Amino acid sequence: MAIDPKLLEIIACPKCKGRLESKPDDSALVCRACRLVFPIVDEIPNLIAEDAQPLTD
Ligand SMILES: [Zn+2]
Repeated sequence: MAIDPKLLEIIACPKCKGRLESKPDDSALVCRACRLVFPIVDEIPNLIAEDAQPLTD
């Protein structure tokens, strides 16, 4: 299930308030400025900075 593009427009990185982009498989949202990956669980983006993973690619 793809993430709603409208949702991507209104949500922002909790650290820098920048735009988030979805991964190609919609498994997570990525902030390239902070190099953080926010998981999407049951189609709900988890935007808690403490739960984010470092961007590795
Ligand atoms: Zn950020």
